[in-house]
Amino acid sequence: MDLIASPSKTKEILSKYPFVFRKKYGQNFLIDSHVLNKIIKGAQITEEDCVLEIGPGIGSLTQVLSFQAKKVIAVEIDDQLIPILNDTLGQYDNIKIIHGDILKIDLKKLIEEENSNQPIKVVANLPYYITTPIIMELLESKLPVKSITIMVQKEVAQRLAASPGSKDYGAISVAVQYYSKPCLLANVPHNCFIPRPNVDSAVIHLEVLNEPTVSVKDEALFFKIIKAAFSQRRKTLINSLYNQNVISISKEEMASILSRVGLDENIRGEVLSIDEFAKLSDALSEYLK
Ligand code: SAM
Repeated sequence: MDLIASPSKTKEILSKYPFVFRKKYGQNFLIDSHVLNKIIKGAQITEEDCVLEIGPGIGSLTQVLSFQAKKVIAVEIDDQLIPILNDTLGQYDNIKIIHGDILKIDLKKLIEEENSNQPIKVVANLPYYITTPIIMELLESKLPVKSITIMVQKEVAQRLAASPGSKDYGAISVAVQYYSKPCLLANVPHNCFIPRPNVDSAVIHLEVLNEPTVSVKDEALFFKIIKAAFSQRRKTLINSLYNQNVISISKEEMASILSRVGLDENIRGEVLSIDEFAKLSDALSEYLK
């Protein structure tokens, strides 16, 4: 069986169609079967699984997913790719190709219809421009999603998995780690794609948690604090919260609340763990009552 992802097969397929790469859709197709295997292995796909693939391209990853999974639903935005996908994947009866924009599709309805609302696994070589919106949509909407295994820009993967105090740690790290447990699987050099992107990529696996990592009394306040804490990285947490008007409270009162939850008044937001953000958020929420 010919793998679509082999460089010669990919070139053969593309030469048969008047296909033009669309940069705006982040089209860099995988041509390395070792990387495909790492994604499949990391996603832990079994024959019970229904997989949602975002952006199948010419079907390189889709084909291999279909070997492992019960069903693959692949959503592709580019109309040029639909006839190509029908050609490359037509012989596999467990693949459903949907022409649409993943950011506009009603994912709740899709999962209801295609998998009787049972949890799915998301796998994708993501176009860079939709990385953050789609990850946050999948996590925040509390959709039935077991895990998300994605290829993203290397720097983005490092940010998603970053620990408190590191240079990559930011609001997105805390948000993702609130809903899931990230694990970096592999770095992928730019020569594994056609055309070659300007940056290196990495595969990251997010195990979606049944319950958030920490429980907080007021989720909206928790996220407001996180946003403010990282908005001015060189400022102390007190100054960031104060400048961003997170709550109307004097700096002195803020210092006393910080000390009550065991934090120094000069601490900077970027060193707080998710647990510490939760404690602070609960203390501020108590104060507001
Ligand atoms: N999965 C293929 C592979 O690994 O070779 C292609 C990956 S390529 C990085 C990203 C794919 O996502 C392209 O096929 C692109 O057209 C598609 N895409 C971009 N934006 C999309 C969107 N909003 N919804 C669905 N697909 C999208």
